[in-house]
Amino acid sequence: MLEKMEEFDQEKVIEEFEALTKDAERVQRETLKKIIEENGSAEYLQSLGLNGRTDIESFRACVPLVTHQDLEPYIRRIVDGNSSPILTGKPITTISLSSGTTQGKPKYIPFNDELMENTLQIYRTSFAFRNREFPLGNGRALQFLYSSKQFKTNGGLAAGTATTNVFRNSMFKKAMKAIQSISCSPDEVIFGSDFHQSLYCHLLCGLIFRDEVQFISSTFAHSILYAFRTFEQVWEELCNDIRTGVLSSRINVLSTRTAMSKLLKPNPELADLIYKKCSSLSNWYGLIPELFPNAKYIYGIMTGSMEPYLKKLRHYAGGLPLLSADYGASEGWIGANVNPKLPPELATYAVLPNIGYFEFIPLRENIEDQDHNNMESSFLRMEPKPVGLTEVKIGEEYEVIVTNFAGLYRYSLGDVVKVIGFHNSTPEIKFVCRRNLLLTINIDKNTEKDLQLSVEEAGKLLSEEKLDVVDFSSHVDLSTDPGHYVIFWEISGEASQEVLKECCNCLDKSFVDAGYVSSRKVNSIGALELRVVRRGTFQEILDHYLGLGSAVSQFKTPRCVGPTNNLVLQILCANVVKSYFSTAF
Ligand code: AMP
Repeated sequence: MLEKMEEFDQEKVIEEFEALTKDAERVQRETLKKIIEENGSAEYLQSLGLNGRTDIESFRACVPLVTHQDLEPYIRRIVDGNSSPILTGKPITTISLSSGTTQGKPKYIPFNDELMENTLQIYRTSFAFRNREFPLGNGRALQFLYSSKQFKTNGGLAAGTATTNVFRNSMFKKAMKAIQSISCSPDEVIFGSDFHQSLYCHLLCGLIFRDEVQFISSTFAHSILYAFRTFEQVWEELCNDIRTGVLSSRINVLSTRTAMSKLLKPNPELADLIYKKCSSLSNWYGLIPELFPNAKYIYGIMTGSMEPYLKKLRHYAGGLPLLSADYGASEGWIGANVNPKLPPELATYAVLPNIGYFEFIPLRENIEDQDHNNMESSFLRMEPKPVGLTEVKIGEEYEVIVTNFAGLYRYSLGDVVKVIGFHNSTPEIKFVCRRNLLLTINIDKNTEKDLQLSVEEAGKLLSEEKLDVVDFSSHVDLSTDPGHYVIFWEISGEASQEVLKECCNCLDKSFVDAGYVSSRKVNSIGALELRVVRRGTFQEILDHYLGLGSAVSQFKTPRCVGPTNNLVLQILCANVVKSYFSTAF
């Protein structure tokens, strides 16, 4: 299959996808059978008494639902170099580090050739649909790709973030070429050891090849936005490099410098042109199409925790469409965006039925069951009842359970999705949020999505002042009695006291969860606190994660900082410049 990537036949890829999704139930059964056959000899599966059975019913009866924590002891032995079949039939030789946003530290997850193949299948599928709607011409992509450091574990396995494992795989380049996604930047920039230097060079490469750039992308929208925010700071220096043909002294990683020096030639006309274009923009509106006149779209994951960045990204994008990339995790891919014309706010992902075996735990049903069981429910936690891929219902929300080809069986991904429709017989799902509640003190329940909506609402008051929320996070402060919510905001400029007070009240009022509102009314939850942090605070947080081995390509701002993430909380608290308490209740 990988070889086929070299010659890309768009219609054939679409046909294959249509065939798979028309028969999703059978494909799921066969996929599970294949996974168990390939890995049946693994100690983990052996211990569960499947005894050679590969059917769905036996699998569900024998194999428990697990979280990463349950599998950690097994993964630890693999990481430490035990090459016996522990979770998979074939030994695992590579480990992915998840972004670790939730827990504050990266998780170790097995990676293998099958996950690589799945990645390419997802890329191919969504490209085929995307290219049908927005055909690319010959050219290049300005891709803000960054590799994390790769290292060897104690046991000698290669370890890096999942995106790094993908970028470093020998198949990656060929696959990218087939889907017209050759990067403007040389490998030395993508794999450069200093993220800030790589970013500067990506921008410079984009400008050098500006007429060829067909689209702008990154894994997550955050890195695209971050790149153009940085552009605002360094554009004159970039113009200067282009004018003189001499690379800024800020680039001191030798391999990056050498590679860039080969590309950079004095080009005063180009420097003047860019200078003129940038000088004539109003508040940088429409920057991207000005710089890259042949770009067709901007592409990256734009849903979930990326949604708060869309407003600013649209500002830079002018009229260029924003297209959301696919849905997956270090644990494996789930769905492809096959309706690229939909704006990111409406984007859905069609689950590929052959890349894993998927189950879905209905969330509403479980909650209703618990309500009906009144008092007892708090003592007897209901057993979640997962349903199969083709059994999900439109309009319902579910938690995603993954069984993949790399040693994860009935693994809870921790994501909540909503079924919006079906593509043939496979569901099209919308990403809702992470499963865990972010903000809860007593009977209140607020998720990442609730926080996002509240920040969006209060952010409108800032927009009236031509300011925006650069990034945000939250914290439950139990050091006061009663405890209260703290929202951290980094703002793009100076806002007045009055406006910030209003924003603080608006944040408080916009958490509409009944538990929160009633607790606020009787003061069993204290007044919400808005803490404004210094410019650059969230960059400090990003740098902190990079120091832990995370990669910019996978970075997601932690939306709630809990006790397990004390260092990030310290960064936030040390940077507070102003604080306001709500008077909304
Ligand atoms: P990581 O932990 O770095 O592997 O990131 C995986 C997580 O990123 C997923 O479990 C989701 O929570 C989030 N994610 C990945 N793709 C999307 C998407 N298309 N939309 C929203 N969130 C996503």
